[in-house]
This record gives sequence, C-alpha cells and structure tokens, in this order.
Amino acid sequence: MATRIGIDAGGTLTKIAYWNDEKELTLISFPSTDFQAVKGWIDAEHPLASICLTGGRAEQLKNYLLSKNEIPYIVEFDATMNGVMYQLKQENKKCESAIIANIGTGTSIHIMKNQQHSRLGGTGIGGGTLTGLGMALTGLVDYEEMIEISKEGSRTYIDVLVSDIYESNKLPIKGSLTASNFGGVALKKSDTKSNADLLAGVQGIIGEVVASLCIQVAEAHEVSDIIYIGSTLENNDLLKKIIESYTRLKQKNPVFLEKHGYSGAIGALLESI
Ligand code: ATP
Ligand code: MG
Repeated sequence: MATRIGIDAGGTLTKIAYWNDEKELTLISFPSTDFQAVKGWIDAEHPLASICLTGGRAEQLKNYLLSKNEIPYIVEFDATMNGVMYQLKQENKKCESAIIANIGTGTSIHIMKNQQHSRLGGTGIGGGTLTGLGMALTGLVDYEEMIEISKEGSRTYIDVLVSDIYESNKLPIKGSLTASNFGGVALKKSDTKSNADLLAGVQGIIGEVVASLCIQVAEAHEVSDIIYIGSTLENNDLLKKIIESYTRLKQKNPVFLEKHGYSGAIGALLESI
C-alpha cells in the first residue's frame, strides 16, 4: 500500500504516480471523465496514502474525493518541471538548458535555463486535436485503434511538399519539407485516401506544428535540446518519428523521456508528504 501518491488531473487523462511496496515507481492513468474510477481505486488500494494534486482538473477531482484532510495542490507547471528533472536524472540524461513541450490535450511550451523555468507559450494543436480531428475525419472513436491505423497511412496524397510545388525548379529550402499539411486533399485530388492516410496526416499536423514552434523558440533562446513530453507520445512511434526527424533537420536535439505522460504526476508525488 502506497503512503504517498501524486495525481495529475489533466483535460483528458488523470495520471497517478506512487512507489509500490518494492519502492518502484508505479504509474497508472484513468480517463478524466471517470473520477469515480480514480476515487474507487484510491479507496480500494491506497486508502491511507497522502495525496498531492496537480493539473487543470485538480480542483474538480479534489471536490470529488471528499477527503477529510485538506489535499495539497501544486501548480501544474512546477510539478511538470520537477517531474522532468527527476526523469532526466533517472535516465542519466544531461539537459541543463532546454525547451520543454508538453503535448497534452493542448500543448504548452516552457524553457528551463539557469535552474529556472518559465512558460513561453503554447498551441491548441495537441493530443486533443489528434483524437478530435481523427474522429471527425474517420468516425473512429478508439484512441489505440486510431494510433495503430495511422501507422499504415501515407501522407503522399494528403500533404503538399515543397518539391511538389517547385518540381524541377531550383529549391530555396529542402524539398522534403511539408509546404501544406492537408493541402494535397484539395490539390492532388486522389480518391485513394484511406482512414490510415487521413490519420497519418493528422499526426503530421500535430508533430510538425509542435516541433516547428519549439524549434523557433529554441533558436530565439539559444538552446539546442527540446524535451517532448505528454501522453500524446505514449505508444505513438509515428508521432515521435515525425517530431524527431523535423527537430534534427533543424539542427536541434530532440529528447524523449520514458514515462512520456507522467511528469506532472511524478512532480506531484515528489511534493507529497
Ligand atoms: P492537459 O495537460 O492539456 O490538461 P492532459 O494532461 O489530460 O491534458 P495528456 O494526458 O498528457 O494530457 O495527453 C492527453 C492525450 O494523450 C490525448 O489527447 C490523446 O491524444 C493521448 N492519449 C494517450 N493515451 C490515451 C488514452 N488511453 N485515451 C485517450 N487519449 C489518450
Ligand atoms: Mg497535462
């Protein structure tokens, strides 16, 4: 039975981190639409644990838990940064200055420099876009199924590349760069677009928008490491590949952590007493 639990109640998923009886870091998540399941799990498995909450839906979850004791809350960005630092150390990764992109329901972008961190901005393009736009385009509702299918897709008829526009003219930038995400649907007029192609195209939008924003802020702040976190990367090798190759193409160093989505929960766990 855990004595301490960190919970990150996000817009889509509620992530939980704790140390099990063998002192191993243990992680579990629930949909944020099912706080009953979170409460049921705590009551059944760890009724005596002291909890620390973070995340945008922490207040709603706190009201739901009806705890007799006051549940401490830690600001989401602080929890996330603490969780990132902890994981970097555990994974022996050295990143003293970095841009950090948390690809959650939406995407939040931060900088860590000189032992301090601050939020630089963000974009509404994130994991919620992947599920929402994916759903709107294909009618599929199961997240895992969408990710699995997207791996088989081709973006050839979905996107327009720089080389599609310039053809044999002298290229001003790399021809393999995307000139227009989804522009090919209107311009290339192929009727071979499958759900797999459409979902691969959606993954392209998320990966390229997030990576290009991060690359721009990394250049402005003169840092070369970009740490990408958030549950959107969980079991999603295609998205990681898109982000990794674009980041490398722009001479920046992409860093992925093993527990992609759990930085906030781990940060909250570290604050729990
Ligand atoms: P935010 O931080 O923006 O409040 P969040 O903390 O809930 O949101 P994450 O948990 O980091 O965000 O990521 C949510 C995204 O992860 C979803 O939008 C989806 O793309 C992806 N995802 C991964 N696993 C699942 C799952 N089992 N069910 C639904 N979405 C999932
Ligand atoms: Mg989150």
